[in-house]
Amino acid sequence: MNLDHQSIWNDTLESIKVSVSPAIFSTWFSQTHLSSVNKEGKKFIAEVGCNSTFVKNTIETRYFGLVQNTLNKILDGPCNLSFIVKEKPRRPADEKGVPSPLFEEKKGGSEECQRAFSKARIRPGYTFENFAVSSSNQMAHAAAEAVAGSLGEAYNPLFIWGGVGVGKTHLMIAVGSSVLKISPGLRVLFCTGEDFTNDIVEGIRNKTTQVFRDKYRKLNLLLLDDIQFIAGKDAVQEEFFHTFNAVTGAGGQIILTSDRPPSEISRLEERLKSRFEAGLIVDVAPPDFELRCAIIQIKSKEKGLDLPMDIVQLIAANLDSARKIEGFLIRLISGAKIRGASLTTEFVESLLGKGSEKNGKIIKAKPQDVIEAIAKYYSLGKRALLGDSRTRPVARPRQILMYLLRTQLGLTLEEAGRLVGNRDHTTVMHAVEKITQLAMSDVQIREDISKIKLGI
Ligand code: ADP
Ligand code: MG
Repeated sequence: MNLDHQSIWNDTLESIKVSVSPAIFSTWFSQTHLSSVNKEGKKFIAEVGCNSTFVKNTIETRYFGLVQNTLNKILDGPCNLSFIVKEKPRRPADEKGVPSPLFEEKKGGSEECQRAFSKARIRPGYTFENFAVSSSNQMAHAAAEAVAGSLGEAYNPLFIWGGVGVGKTHLMIAVGSSVLKISPGLRVLFCTGEDFTNDIVEGIRNKTTQVFRDKYRKLNLLLLDDIQFIAGKDAVQEEFFHTFNAVTGAGGQIILTSDRPPSEISRLEERLKSRFEAGLIVDVAPPDFELRCAIIQIKSKEKGLDLPMDIVQLIAANLDSARKIEGFLIRLISGAKIRGASLTTEFVESLLGKGSEKNGKIIKAKPQDVIEAIAKYYSLGKRALLGDSRTRPVARPRQILMYLLRTQLGLTLEEAGRLVGNRDHTTVMHAVEKITQLAMSDVQIREDISKIKLGI
């Protein structure tokens, strides 16, 4: 039986593409090919070639089940799957391969779109397509996509909070940008808490508050970045309260970002807090190692740099935030130009300098701390928590445990599975997905998770 590798793999990738974000697809799956596939008895034996060990390890640990299920369906039979490190054979026909959705952005956008973007004060470079997703931002990303898909209906407001440079502004603008691409006629506006404040002050000073109101209250989508800035400013909070009510009352959507959750913004009016809490509050944690690698790949490609995987990993292991990564890449490019140096590992190391973290993960707490915090919160024995019982009162906390081990500590699926009673990595994957979904719809779970986090 002659199996056409290329078309089997193309079909598999097409199907995988709908299950993962474009950035994940482009970062990992576009670097794979079907190296061999044979039929032995009723089973297929397939080998997937990956461009590097890193790609292999990532796909193996995070997407094994997805690839396996998809291949089973495409081949219409069970398949024994393995991954190997092997460059894709370069044939002219391959060049087209599977289209990478990542950078199609830049090619165009109609004039109408461009006008709509500048009117909305939206930077065109921040899209869902070039936003990499991992466990630390998965929930915020899913919520943002849901909001973009049904303005004013999914979660209103959507409140995204987290530290500096974790991608809050990027994600918020991505919603605006995806909405405007489809409907350039919608009234969308991006502004910071500071812009909003300045506009009001000006309105009051020049007696043009009506102009201000016309501008803000009739929006279909208001993206207000760094809302914490308005705390403690009475007139601004008052105006924002009415803006909020007018926009949401007319079916419009509001997205807010902040460096902390509403409950922790001091001098934020209670009525605003309660409005925010009635929507969806999601946090974005600092990027783990894998995510930093993906961000480096995206940003370096955007700057026209094609970095080999070992250099990508070296940078990711030494810089812990996306902001630092951006700054570093700029230095890297100009450094290489000025010194005429090529991008060798030594050169990158010398630019990274001393005093960098040597481990690839940002570990804040230890797994034992998380296990203890959950056992305590649910008054469960550790043995029960890590054991075999599948009853709801134990199974749900156990899923939350796996979720937190992945998202807060950045453990791999394998590591998390091993710690939680030697479970399989697919069980962990399922738990993370389940809790992510639940946390979006269930206030109680969200509250439980944030209280547990405080106890870690
Ligand atoms: P924040 O608003 O949380 O401080 P930004 O949205 O300004 O962070 O992100 C800082 C930089 O890092 C931006 O250039 C952004 O594109 C990039 N960045 C952050 N997270 C991601 C991500 N997940 N994928 C791609 N780029 C990211
Ligand atoms: Mg920001």
